[in-house]
Amino acid sequence: MSILVFIQQENGKINRLSLEAITGAQQLGAKLNQPVTACVFDENSANELKSYKLDKIVCINDSQLVEYNPITFANVMEQIISNENSTLIIAGHTYEARDWIPRLSARLDLPFVSDCTGFKTDPNFVVIRSIYQGKISSDVSIENNNGFISFQSGSFRADEIQVGSCEVIQVSVDLSQSTDLVRPGEKFQEATGAVDLSRAKIIVSVGRGIGKEENLPIAEELAKSLNAEIGASRPVVDYGWLPHERQVGSSGQTVIPKMYLALGISGAVQHQVGMKGSDCIVAINKDPNAPIFEIADYGIVEDLFEIVPKLTEKLNAR
Ligand SMILES: Cc1cc2nc3c(=O)[nH]c(=O)nc-3n(C[C@H](O)[C@H](O)[C@H](O)COP(=O)(O)OP(=O)(O)OC[C@H]3O[C@@H](n4cnc5c(N)ncnc54)[C@H](O)[C@@H]3O)c2cc1C
Repeated sequence: MSILVFIQQENGKINRLSLEAITGAQQLGAKLNQPVTACVFDENSANELKSYKLDKIVCINDSQLVEYNPITFANVMEQIISNENSTLIIAGHTYEARDWIPRLSARLDLPFVSDCTGFKTDPNFVVIRSIYQGKISSDVSIENNNGFISFQSGSFRADEIQVGSCEVIQVSVDLSQSTDLVRPGEKFQEATGAVDLSRAKIIVSVGRGIGKEENLPIAEELAKSLNAEIGASRPVVDYGWLPHERQVGSSGQTVIPKMYLALGISGAVQHQVGMKGSDCIVAINKDPNAPIFEIADYGIVEDLFEIVPKLTEKLNAR
């Protein structure tokens, strides 16, 4: 068995989910005592990987791989998997991965366990996958430990990648079989805005519990006293109280601040996937059974309108 982690990049910048996948692959490799090889289609990205604890970096520098194309990517990965004798192929669960991996998984007749949130190795190796809209976690075993795995955003932390040193091996592949049946169109642009919550150190996030737009200043005052960014759950954005760039969750941003304060947020799974990697989660919610308390480090069961102004006052007094 050997592990191959696919590194997606764009213009020489490694995709965040690929960095998270490296952490997952390193942890799995350590548990199973297996080497981890990274595979990347760009020299700059390959050089960046050199400072990570990997056994090998396979770099394929070919002009046909500059633009994403599922047929070409699948063809290249088929050759690399065969050359490297890789049995477990790991990737971040990006739009591209969920396009080319199923093609190759069908071609090679290997399973693809997608959107996984982690793994266990005791007693046997299984990957963990949410089902029924995140209500149940299922353990999936992979026959002969041979197949593809993609990890959901936030399942591992990019800042927990183990450092080391590793050589880059340039490899050429035969792309003569790649047709132009699929031609890339204009690239889909993720919604971008002035706010990059993924870099925020502290986030004060507002949920439906804030009641109405006119109450937002209560949270904004707290954010100001903490020098924090404002985040939001989806309903707050859907009501138009805050712009979409402030939304945290599966259809918003994934954040990993030092502290995440959830004000009047129930903690639905779609919200949790965007913030569960935070170092410290503080929840204020008047419902003691709110799911947010299951992942909170500190919980205050209270009316936020009682607590938040007092908290701000105390912070401002310091
Ligand atoms: C495909 C899909 C994608 C989604 N993507 C996202 C996403 O990216 N981000 C996201 O957030 N959601 C997302 N959702 C929605 C998600 O399922 C939840 O509906 C949403 O997260 C709930 O937001 P909330 O916690 O603010 O509201 P609610 O679930 O209504 O919770 C409000 C909470 O406030 C508490 N509360 C009320 N008044 C007070 C008070 N005065 N003081 C203290 N607490 C109070 C209540 O006890 C309650 O727990 C998605 C859903 C789907 C189907």
